[in-house]
Amino acid sequence: MARRLTIAIDGPGSAGKGTVARSVARELGYQYVDTGAMYRGVAVCAASQGVPWTDERALAGLASNLRFGFGWDGDNLTVEIDGEDVTKSIRSEEAGKGASRVSALVGVRQALLGLQRSLAEQGGVVMDGRDIGTVVFPDAEVKVYLDADLDERARRRHDEIVRRGDVVSFERVKQDLAERDNRDLTRKNAPLMVADDAVVLDTTSLTIRQVVERVLSLIDTRSSTN
Ligand code: C5P
Repeated sequence: MARRLTIAIDGPGSAGKGTVARSVARELGYQYVDTGAMYRGVAVCAASQGVPWTDERALAGLASNLRFGFGWDGDNLTVEIDGEDVTKSIRSEEAGKGASRVSALVGVRQALLGLQRSLAEQGGVVMDGRDIGTVVFPDAEVKVYLDADLDERARRRHDEIVRRGDVVSFERVKQDLAERDNRDLTRKNAPLMVADDAVVLDTTSLTIRQVVERVLSLIDTRSSTN
């Protein structure tokens, strides 16, 4: 039987990580773990409990007590926190902004790290985020860093928001993405960076299918050489 690997997919927002990671996981029969959803969940729960996104102690306590449940609704990932369906609320722009802030706090990252590692104990996992190949699984068998031009990522994010029925200008989306990139790249703890042994794929002019094929072929090569 083929060995079940740990696949780390990192990169900036809207580089295609989630869509690619989901497809790869489905094709391999692996579990998909969206770590961005966890940080978004912490931000949303904090807001609903009146905890400021700057209160590290309270946020760390909150993060370590949350029970996440991931599932599928057709091709879409569903997320529950403490039994409540937060699939929609964690995707708002406000939740993204909050995630970007709370994820810069060491206490919050430490609180989620153990949970993220425990989800891959049996192998057979595709996990996406910002620090999966560098911090969460430095020994992952396959590491991919997906990137794309800021304009292209902003276009993808803008399309997604418009499809949801929300109204926002392209320039606003682009500026928000640039700010989040900057926070993720410059924070002290677990900044967004390319792991030494990661394969970098620029998805600017690739289709999702092309990226998925490349990742699958990389996994194929690694599983026969490891
Ligand atoms: O990937 P997504 O946009 O859902 O992530 C939301 C935010 O969570 C990111 O902007 C980033 O600041 C943070 N994040 C992180 N580390 C991860 C995943 C997400 O810092 N592994």
